[in-house]
Amino acid sequence: MGLIVQKYGGSSVADAEGMKRVANRIVAAKRDGNQVVVVVSAMGDTTDELIDLAEQITPIPSGRELDMLLTAGERISMALLAMAITNLGHEARSFTGSQAGVITTSTHGRARIIDVTPGRIQEALGEGAIAIVAGFQGISQDTKDVTTLGRGGSDTTAVALAAALDADVCEIYTDVDGVFSADPRVVPQARKLKTLTYEEMLELAASGAKILHLRCVEYARRYNLPIHVRSSFSTNEGTWVVKDHPEGADMEQAIISGIAHDKSEAKITIVGVPDRTGVAARIFQAIADADINIDMIVQNVSAAATGLTDISFTLPKSEGPDATVILQKLQGEVGFASIQYDDQIGKLSLIGAGMRSHPGVTATFFGALSTAGVNIEMISTSEIRISIICRQGDLERGVKAAHTAFELDADQSEAVIYGGSGR
Ligand code: ADP
Ligand code: ASP
Ligand code: MG
Repeated sequence: MGLIVQKYGGSSVADAEGMKRVANRIVAAKRDGNQVVVVVSAMGDTTDELIDLAEQITPIPSGRELDMLLTAGERISMALLAMAITNLGHEARSFTGSQAGVITTSTHGRARIIDVTPGRIQEALGEGAIAIVAGFQGISQDTKDVTTLGRGGSDTTAVALAAALDADVCEIYTDVDGVFSADPRVVPQARKLKTLTYEEMLELAASGAKILHLRCVEYARRYNLPIHVRSSFSTNEGTWVVKDHPEGADMEQAIISGIAHDKSEAKITIVGVPDRTGVAARIFQAIADADINIDMIVQNVSAAATGLTDISFTLPKSEGPDATVILQKLQGEVGFASIQYDDQIGKLSLIGAGMRSHPGVTATFFGALSTAGVNIEMISTSEIRISIICRQGDLERGVKAAHTAFELDADQSEAVIYGGSGR
């Protein structure tokens, strides 16, 4: 007998039919002799709709109240799913994140899990019940307020619970058959990947592929917990995210495993910055003090005549307004000319462990972008990733061109999108 943690995303439980379909799958896993813990997301686009609703009330809702509102979405799902399972003659008990022992930091909207104490889940399992847990939420250790883990955070709830319960596997059920070489909504010719290493999946998730939440992959790597990403609408084998590619897979291993794109970032350019020691430190310290995450940074060579330079950096759009206000306050002290804010950028990233041993990846990539008429505005690299910033309107064209250039296109379209609005 094994212990399985299954996570069902919003598109898998979008309506009553979906709930019943998922309930049947869960019961089948239980009938196979497993103990089953299920993590569930809010139905369909509920989280987005709740955010829209809050914005109609106030443009800047308080973090505490927004978290209270959003966590209601997962509570609706967990109760309905428990009812659907009960209807099939099996005992199911639903738990909020707090009841399941998900203890977090107190930063609303992007709290981090610091501990998981799943006593009540173990009790339910011990009594033969299926435990259903509301994803994406926890309780702050300090304030005892309800928190959320950031968009897509139910994946992280699932992996954190799987690690705490020492589960055999964590299955992430979604609306596509696994992790593909690119988002199948953008590249219909994308290929399903059999395996991915934690390292590759981390880079993909960090580069905007929302198929898995970044923290969930970090967690899985730390506990060496295998993740099986698959569709709740089919019985196809999905993608395994594991420590190493299996023996022999290296031969077929492409140089590039996947291409990710991201439209959620903005670019700030600080124009006319005095090129003096300590200026960049002053600017980025102020940004860090506000807990704002930045991604790429580019500083131009300063013009000899003026001794001035421009610094550009990217950050999540959601943090753009705060960062702009902070920089405006610094303008007098640092003495730069102006700030430009651009939220029409896109980020395109190539990821693959094979990059380490294959020169020429950059040349092929840039050649493909140039042929597709995509202008590169910023570049950053890691050992197994190359990312560029371009105009948002050019992004999808760039993704398709790079996918073809690295010979990733499947001969026959194999990517099926079973549900979801892609929102
Ligand atoms: P869920 O609601 O199940 O959590 P998400 O919408 O968060 O689902 O994630 C699934 C979606 O991720 C897919 O529908 C797909 O559009 C998108 N996606 C982005 N990159 C990839 C990729 N490389 N492989 C598969 N899906 C991807
Ligand atoms: N419902 C949350 C969201 O839409 C969490 C999740 O689905 O993982 O972001
Ligand atoms: Mg998700």
